[in-house]
Amino acid sequence: MTVWDSLVGQGQVIARLQRAVAGEMTHAWLFTGPPGSGRSNTAVAFAAALQCEQGGCGQCHSCHEVAVGSHPDVRVTRTEKLSIGVDEVRELVRASALAPVGRRWQIMVVEDADRLTDQAANALLKAIEEPTERTVWLLCAPTVEDVLPTIRSRTRLVVLSTPSVDDVTDFLVRSEGLGVETASYAARASQGHIGRARALARDEDTRRRRREVVAIPGRLSSLGACMASAADLHDLAKEEADALTSDHDQREKSDLDRAYGVVERGRRPREYAPALRDLEKSQKTRAKRRHLDVVDRGLMDLVSVYRDVLTVQLGTGVDLVNEEVRGDVVALANASSAEQSLRRIEAVFEAREQMLEFNVPPLLALESMMVGLQIVRD
Ligand SMILES: [Zn+2]
Repeated sequence: MTVWDSLVGQGQVIARLQRAVAGEMTHAWLFTGPPGSGRSNTAVAFAAALQCEQGGCGQCHSCHEVAVGSHPDVRVTRTEKLSIGVDEVRELVRASALAPVGRRWQIMVVEDADRLTDQAANALLKAIEEPTERTVWLLCAPTVEDVLPTIRSRTRLVVLSTPSVDDVTDFLVRSEGLGVETASYAARASQGHIGRARALARDEDTRRRRREVVAIPGRLSSLGACMASAADLHDLAKEEADALTSDHDQREKSDLDRAYGVVERGRRPREYAPALRDLEKSQKTRAKRRHLDVVDRGLMDLVSVYRDVLTVQLGTGVDLVNEEVRGDVVALANASSAEQSLRRIEAVFEAREQMLEFNVPPLLALESMMVGLQIVRD
């Protein structure tokens, strides 16, 4: 397996990057693409290819080091925070100017370039404008609009597309050794989000939670059902977010304990309490963010059901994303008009905006959304 084999449905992008490795290089790149399309994986694969004697063989010591994050000349910055500040970027800029330990490149990958504060972005801009000869910056963001125009204009743009259901299915069969049926279910349900597809393919709990979410539209026949469904979606998201964070939190806590010698001596140094408070605070912020992310994904799962309804109503003959609730989909299609389906999709996006842009508490946003989705029979 070469470093490129972990990328899904990005043939054209890979061909371009391979040409760059072969000589058409530049010092700053911007990788954009929808969530789950693999923009940071692509940047890291590119970094590996640039460091490898054979253009990314995936087998040598250097390729392995990049893959596990221990290559001395590849530094990946990822953040759980809402923003990347100027101090952090200044530190990166300093490190970027160092000569590479190996003979090739000093590579700086910034996974969430959309979270750079303006001040941080300007500090980065200076480094990109006056590049050190062996330094390469690989920035990642959802879209070009998410980074300052001044940065955008000085980087070479690489746009990833959402991988097709077939591409994701093939990938899951190849990399996870799954049967075609499970793989194609996960590929369809994930709507091109690779990480999500993998989680759905691997984990029955994840599949169960998604099944419960896509069953919601079919049962919104009373106000009571709407309120109950809002609470269900909220709790399902909480369950999934907790599953994602708890291991990580535990590990951080034991690292902290070890750093302060709490385990060994049983006595706590004075500095421990404030450090623990800081850790708990940042874990809480992260948990809240994860919860929102998972609610958001649940909303996109709901949208996929209403798209299916619309597909049936318009008779387009396209495959359903949610084959498993075809009964509900057909019933909804018969009980409403295409216009109503569009309005329902709009109601979901409104809830999303309320939550993500205006900080409306998720449960509240979900309750008013469910009322907008209610099936009114006359
Ligand atoms: Zn290699």
